[in-house]
Amino acid sequence: MTATSALAHTYHPLPVTIARAQGTHVWDTDGIEYLDFLAGYSALNFGHLQQGVVAAAMDQLKRVTLTSRAFDHDKLEEFANRLAAFVGPLTTGGAESLVIPMNTGAEAVESAIKTVRKWGYDVKGVPADQAKIIVADGNFHGRTTTIVGFSDDPVTRDGFGPYAPGFVSVPFGDVDAVAEAIDDTTVAVLMEPIQGEGGVVLPPDAFWPTLRALTEEHGVLLVADEIQSGLGRTGTTLASELWGVRPDLVCLGKALGGGIVPVSAVVGRRDVIEVLTPGTHGSTFGGNPLACAVGLAVLDLLEPGQYQARTVQLGEVLAERLDQLVEAGLLQAARTVGLWAGIDVDPARGTGRDLCGALLERGVLAKDTHGSTIRLSPPLSIVQPELEQALDLLEDALRSL
Ligand code: PLP
Repeated sequence: MTATSALAHTYHPLPVTIARAQGTHVWDTDGIEYLDFLAGYSALNFGHLQQGVVAAAMDQLKRVTLTSRAFDHDKLEEFANRLAAFVGPLTTGGAESLVIPMNTGAEAVESAIKTVRKWGYDVKGVPADQAKIIVADGNFHGRTTTIVGFSDDPVTRDGFGPYAPGFVSVPFGDVDAVAEAIDDTTVAVLMEPIQGEGGVVLPPDAFWPTLRALTEEHGVLLVADEIQSGLGRTGTTLASELWGVRPDLVCLGKALGGGIVPVSAVVGRRDVIEVLTPGTHGSTFGGNPLACAVGLAVLDLLEPGQYQARTVQLGEVLAERLDQLVEAGLLQAARTVGLWAGIDVDPARGTGRDLCGALLERGVLAKDTHGSTIRLSPPLSIVQPELEQALDLLEDALRSL
């Protein structure tokens, strides 16, 4: 980006300009090849230009791309039904779940917030405008004004007030703190099963099952933001499955768009989502024909379970190598689940940005998240030799710091 660029300066990208991509690889404008170890923050779980997704998009581009929700189209119900049948059984909604189709992740979270509040007033009997939602410290749920208001990251939050009331934040993984925060006005707990932007932070093992029991006991809805953790990344379809937990509502996004278009959704309990009626919620682009065609192609990829299985298998390779780097003193810590890892560099050796620069020089694209933490999230389509090559390059980059 040049100093005179007209682009708003809301990002600090690494110095690489991508011109082409395929599978796990991208090429810059000089034709230099890189392994993509960010995968669009997990939006490219199936790799760049995945054949089936591209074919579905191309086919749809020749038929109809947008109708608005003023009219139905021939892919909308099929998409909702298939998504409900696939993801619904992983929630307490079961296969009878309903789907709210949206576009971006933040919109899915906003939709979930609206839904649980309305459920609180209409069904739980919470007095008007009193609904409370419990969230976690260190959360990241998107960039809208309501959502940044309950972030505790000053860069994300500061300067964008006044903030929406109705949110209480507790330490992530602390079920006693959730219990203490629950009262008669609490309508939901909204959390990421594993905090992605936070640096792939896993809660204690007992957290999610205990939280599920607690919310059930108090008639509080459990909403899992699986926008980054869901759709195969952890080796399960949803990260919640790692703990055998079924949330009431799940927010999906990123990979649901197959790396082609923004597609997001809230999936879950029919009796909860049914509080939304015509006119109370919507989106011009939500559930558009192109998005539905791509979403259906993504379901084709996920339903057989092969991506999830290979993610478990390759995740073991990733975890083993990263643990070795910790043992060798090259990394301070590594947290790995499936093909998703948060690694911490010793700040005395360099920042996360320094490591990303060293990786870039060696042909691997990754992005720091906070300070000395980098998240690794290659496409789930990666093959073992590529994974091992990238890990060799990571070791070399770490030694160079
Ligand atoms: N929720 C989680 C857990 C995320 O990781 C993100 C994006 O990183 C979002 C929501 C927001 O998604 P989007 O950028 O599509 O609005």
